[in-house]
Amino acid sequence: MVYTDTRDKKVKVDFKTAVMSGMNAETGGLYIPVEYPRLDDSLLKRIPEPSFREVAFEMAKPYVQGEIPDGDLEFIIQDAYPFTSKVVPVDHTSYVLELFHGPTCAFKDFGARFMARVMSYFNRGADDNLHILVATSGDTGSAVGSAFHNVPGIDVTILYPDGKISPLQEKQLSTFDGNVRALKVKGNFDDCQKLVKTAFTDADLRAKFRLSSANSINISRLLPQSFYYMYSSLVVKNRIPQDSKIENPSIIVTVPSGNFGNLTSGLIAREMGAPIAGFIAATNANHTVPDWIDSGKYSARPSVATLSNAMDVGAPSNYERIASMYTLDQVRSFFAAYWTDDNGTLDAIRDCHEKTGYIVDPHGAVAWKAWNDIRRGAMQDLIDGKTMDASKPGLVNNIPEWGKSILDKTAVGILLETAHPAKFGATVQNAIGREPSMPDRLEKVMSLPDRAIPMKKDYASFKEWLVSNL
Ligand SMILES: *Cc1c(COP(=O)(O)O)cnc(C)c1O
Repeated sequence: MVYTDTRDKKVKVDFKTAVMSGMNAETGGLYIPVEYPRLDDSLLKRIPEPSFREVAFEMAKPYVQGEIPDGDLEFIIQDAYPFTSKVVPVDHTSYVLELFHGPTCAFKDFGARFMARVMSYFNRGADDNLHILVATSGDTGSAVGSAFHNVPGIDVTILYPDGKISPLQEKQLSTFDGNVRALKVKGNFDDCQKLVKTAFTDADLRAKFRLSSANSINISRLLPQSFYYMYSSLVVKNRIPQDSKIENPSIIVTVPSGNFGNLTSGLIAREMGAPIAGFIAATNANHTVPDWIDSGKYSARPSVATLSNAMDVGAPSNYERIASMYTLDQVRSFFAAYWTDDNGTLDAIRDCHEKTGYIVDPHGAVAWKAWNDIRRGAMQDLIDGKTMDASKPGLVNNIPEWGKSILDKTAVGILLETAHPAKFGATVQNAIGREPSMPDRLEKVMSLPDRAIPMKKDYASFKEWLVSNL
């Protein structure tokens, strides 16, 4: 596969270059494949549907062709995904897609684990280790640390602000052994990020060590997230005749979004033949993308803090990928856009629990809120000619092509649940009066010994540590 750049279509690189460099330093653009080959009908139409791992293998194949042989790719997929995504019906026309069955209980495991194995594959035969440095304000560090744990030829140093992340998050970061270690920095997240950036531009350090980042804009994190869209839409398509007997259903996927990497992966799956009619882009009070779909003008802004904190992004990096794949009219033809505030998020946790018995986390709650408001009247209002005030929570002024399927009652929803609710126990408790039960793997981490290394926030101390420990 040839990869090009969102800012310069003349750029042509291979998969290895796109993965190992993360982004194009010359243009500041992001890598995207030049095409999204449709899967064969023998796979798309098979009943029962293929397994998650078979879907993953067939989808990954064209993107690594000529660079990773089939046997090695198969090993990478098997090794990355001892777990899978799970489709859980919660009412006649709604399915929750649980993406938290990986080791760190959030959907980022899907992308990070594939990326780690691909980087290790491309790094094989190198004489010395590749050193990953990552600054984190919470969830990304644990997904990356866990993904690279015990991966040969690579080690990871995670920097996090001491005392500024939740106790559970800290345990998830600081209890690794072997090739993954955490530095708790006396400072804030910006200090951590500055230390990492300074290290990357330090010529003396770069002459001594091979340094790399595990950035969320890496194409090898985006591609594997498309696997679960394909898999779940095939599962749901095959279930609809039994569950709701709807003829010609429109499958609509609601994606709680921040940086819009997850939703971009959904677009890739749709291009490759996933039976998805459209998407609901659901955000918290950081509603840059709903505003863009409403007004046609994109304006990035500083982020605001919310209960769904992994979505607190005011300048979503993958907007650039979406805008290079589609025109605004195309985006409007298959996206509805919706945003909610913290009250709406708490309401949704309560509402979902009351109506279905299912407990969603604050990120999944944003999706539940959007899907339910839209099917319970907001889309009808819009089609009836009502004008929405996009500066207030709710559906924004755009009727996608599938809008009518909501009125016909032929729409079926897949709602992405991006984290396990136990990671946000206090918010859930606040909404429904009790905490969700802890999965074993989270419970276990709470009793592991803390191995974080205290670090001052000045670069000289950090560099000294790197030089004597890498
Ligand atoms: C990162 C994250 C999101 C947002 O995903 P994007 O790809 O940035 O849109 C949503 N929920 C959870 C739990 C996350 O960790």
